[in-house]
This record gives sequence, structure tokens and C-alpha cells, in this order.
Amino acid sequence: MKFYYFTYFIIKEGITHMNLRNSLNKMRDNFIRSMQGRYIMYGTDSFSRFLFGLVLLLIFINIIIGSSLLSLIEFVIFVYAYYRLFSKNISKRYHENEMFEKYKNKYISFFKNFKYNINQAKTYHIYKCPNCGQKIRIPRGKGKIMVRCPKCYTEFQKKS
Ligand SMILES: [Zn+2]
Repeated sequence: MKFYYFTYFIIKEGITHMNLRNSLNKMRDNFIRSMQGRYIMYGTDSFSRFLFGLVLLLIFINIIIGSSLLSLIEFVIFVYAYYRLFSKNISKRYHENEMFEKYKNKYISFFKNFKYNINQAKTYHIYKCPNCGQKIRIPRGKGKIMVRCPKCYTEFQKKS
């Protein structure tokens, strides 16, 4: 009697297991099918990473300041970032990312130039030629020196 129960149990478990495996396979197939043609299947782009990073940053800031408006902004950005990932309009998403890259590079070069200009101002004086208006870069701390304009060759005296 016990043996029959045991066999019954094994067969029943086997069938359930097979069914479970089948339905898991089916779920996986459905998932893969539903993901086809979606933006995320082409990998995450820099704009997505930026958006999720921004949400994380805002969450941290909001832990300190506890603003409900900021929570709403976090939520909207989060939903938008997810919407982008699962969007089927690949070309539009791609274009968005290109725009993002463009603005990011502009922003980065602005700050690089800003840093560069500050360093230049520390080590150089910028003078204008009294004759033609050409800008001339003179190292600081050399006392009174004669400057010759590289454009019109006018000479003038400056304190550096
Ligand atoms: Zn000149």
C-alpha cells in the first residue's frame, strides 16, 4: 500500500513539475516576445543612466529636505525613465539620447573652459593693443615690460 502511494506521489509530483516547467517556459517566451522591439533590448543609453542617477540623487537629497514636491518630481522622472526603456519608438528614443549627449558635452566644455579661464587669469594678464585692439597675453609678475603687438608690431609699455 505504501509503495502505491509512493508511486502515485512521484508521478503526481512529476506531472506538476512538468506543468510548472512548461508554464515557466511559456512565461519566459511571453516575456521575451513582449520585450522584442523595445528600446531596452538595445542596451541602456547614457540618457537612461543619467535619469536613474538623477532620481537616486534626488532621493538622497529628499531624505535630508523632505519635500513632497521633490518626491513628485522624482516620481515623474522615474516613470519617464521607465517609459523610455520599454518604448517601441526606437528612433525617437535614440534622438533623445543624441540631444542629451549634445547638451552634456556643451555643459562639460563650458565648465572646462571656465576652469581654463580662471587658471589663465591667475598666470597671465590680457592686454589690448592700443593701435589695433588685438588681445595679447602677458605673463604676470615680470615688472614693467615692453610689449610688441604680434599683429601690427606696435610697441607699448605695460606693468605685468
Ligand atoms: Zn596691434
